[in-house]
Amino acid sequence: MNKAESERLASYLEQAGYQSATSAEDAELIILNSCVVRQSAENKVINKLNALKPLKRSRPGLSLAVTGCLVNSEIDQLRQNFPYVDYFFKPGEYPPWIDNTQSGLILPQHPSPAVFVPIIQGCDNFCSYCIVPYRRGRERSRPVEEIVAEVKELVRRGVKEVTLLGQNVDSYGHDLPDTPDLADLLCELNGIDGLVRIRFLTSHPKDMSAKLIEKVACLGKVCEEISLPVQSGSSDILRAMRRDYTVEHYYQLVTDIRSRIPGVALSTDVIVGFPSETEEQFQATFDLLSALRFDTVHVAIYSPRPGTVAAREFMDDVPLATKRERLSRVERLQGVIATEINSRLLGKTVEVLVEGEKKGRWRGRTRSGKLVFFSDNSNCLGRLVRVRIEKTSPWALQGSVKTSNPD
Ligand code: SF4
Repeated sequence: MNKAESERLASYLEQAGYQSATSAEDAELIILNSCVVRQSAENKVINKLNALKPLKRSRPGLSLAVTGCLVNSEIDQLRQNFPYVDYFFKPGEYPPWIDNTQSGLILPQHPSPAVFVPIIQGCDNFCSYCIVPYRRGRERSRPVEEIVAEVKELVRRGVKEVTLLGQNVDSYGHDLPDTPDLADLLCELNGIDGLVRIRFLTSHPKDMSAKLIEKVACLGKVCEEISLPVQSGSSDILRAMRRDYTVEHYYQLVTDIRSRIPGVALSTDVIVGFPSETEEQFQATFDLLSALRFDTVHVAIYSPRPGTVAAREFMDDVPLATKRERLSRVERLQGVIATEINSRLLGKTVEVLVEGEKKGRWRGRTRSGKLVFFSDNSNCLGRLVRVRIEKTSPWALQGSVKTSNPD
């Protein structure tokens, strides 16, 4: 979400006449888009702000602004802590020093072939560990017509793939008149000429419906990739996390998804070291990951976020060394699983949408979201290319072009 908002902010500033600078030292304006989902992310932005202080002091003409989830309702406190910051504005808001009355659609003039499109902001779930609902507020869906118009315009500007974004994308539409849902939106977008692929994230196991699974299975442009955070393999921990589903429900959901969408790539998120997590409860998470064999696992160490239910009601009682050890066990397990899953693609030909070039190699993704690198002398940007996979790793694939399809 922050990445999508940074891109939109950059487009907005470009339209207001700004040009991007090559370094902080060259810039007349620096905006930090902050994340506070974990303590480490918050530390990062605070360290960055402290590091920028001497630059700001030596160049008083430099404007410094902070947005994102660090900017909560206590802006006065932030102003006191960081008096050299010129502007604070909340996530999703416009920079306050620009007249935004004529803004209209804030879209990049020359977008990447694959872009993010936020469709729902905020979250109503209040998982006990999570700061997001406090910083981004309650759920607000964008109307279907607005999203469709935006995607059509993006396609007109060269976009081939959209990833629909929401903190809980499955609850899209419940706050709109006629209560359209994500499945309805996917049907509308699937009909847009020139759009090649559609993805969405992040799903919530309690909200993923049979109707949505069905649409992913049958709509040709919707990619076989689902992000379904489980967070823990223990139903007791899930209850303490206020996730509103059980481990049994999660297993059943994955079974249903895999039987209806063959070849689907599944990713999940896990938190280790949640308050009171015992060795047995962690082992249940480990066993779930071993049994379900995800394509990707994002694992994080629990850190209390001030103001959340977990920070108020539970002791952060799992020692850091234990948390680290659990994190590394999950990482090692997932390294083995991802190596095996990806190695099955060796010698196969996959369809890649080329998103960019780095160090002389083209970079793109398969429909299932696998990152692929290959070399080719022609301009492949934005094209669908068939690549024969010659090397695999847990994180990416490498290959060479079989045939190119100018689309
Ligand atoms: S659903 Fe996601 S964003 Fe919402 S409270 Fe839970 S973890 Fe946070």
